[in-house]
Amino acid sequence: MDLASGLKKLIASRDNFRCRRCGIELKQDAFERNIDHIIPRDLIAISELWNLELLCINCNEQKGSKLSSDFQERCTRALKKSFSLKKEELKNQNYIGLALKAVFVQHHNYYQTELKEHYKDDYINKKKYGSNYRVLIDLVRNLALQQEFKVSNVKKKKKSTEKLSQQLKKEANEAIKSLKNIFRPIEEKKEEKAIKAEQDLLLQYDRKFSQFLLSSAQNKHYSTIMNFMAWSEQLTPRKDNEILSADELLNSYLRMFEYLNNC
Ligand SMILES: [Zn+2]
Repeated sequence: MDLASGLKKLIASRDNFRCRRCGIELKQDAFERNIDHIIPRDLIAISELWNLELLCINCNEQKGSKLSSDFQERCTRALKKSFSLKKEELKNQNYIGLALKAVFVQHHNYYQTELKEHYKDDYINKKKYGSNYRVLIDLVRNLALQQEFKVSNVKKKKKSTEKLSQQLKKEANEAIKSLKNIFRPIEEKKEEKAIKAEQDLLLQYDRKFSQFLLSSAQNKHYSTIMNFMAWSEQLTPRKDNEILSADELLNSYLRMFEYLNNC
């Protein structure tokens, strides 16, 4: 067994040898087992453990190269499952399993490199996004795993008077909000809070992607930028203050990066 098929088997075992979409068991037939890229390789090639999951042939065909709207949940789960021990393993005192997992965790960087080479990630991404693709991968990973960006990366410089008026505005808003909240059931408030946190994070991703797009565009020839602008006019225009969902964000930005690199 070569290393790549060994790693594929490891991912299958992590997913309990069951298709992650329909739940069908795939223990017997290795040919039925498909290791699927949750964020499709057509979009960007990332063969890291958090982006891989076990699917049966049917589900894999059905999914095709689409980015599903629940990709963030899928990626987060795959990441957690990759490095945590299964309850059954502890219960059954499967010491070989435990020891192998420990070895795997220790050397996972090496295995990841093997996986990337097997799927030719670097080659695909370089062709599509140019030599800057690593930054793009970092951004996509952040978005997929819903990790917050470090505040130090965001430039915040505001004049003190501006700060003060904003502070007043904020306080006034909060006072109004708290008045409104008195009449609202608690559960609804909690849900609202969660939605707001999610949207704040999406806005952060949006800003990061657009910053990087801008800095990538700066190195391009003016004719390339003209072409890009003409092309981007055909895209569906975004309404003011519209918050895109995570899959919409990824789809639209990656298309823009690809176009910018190849026009
Ligand atoms: Zn299936």
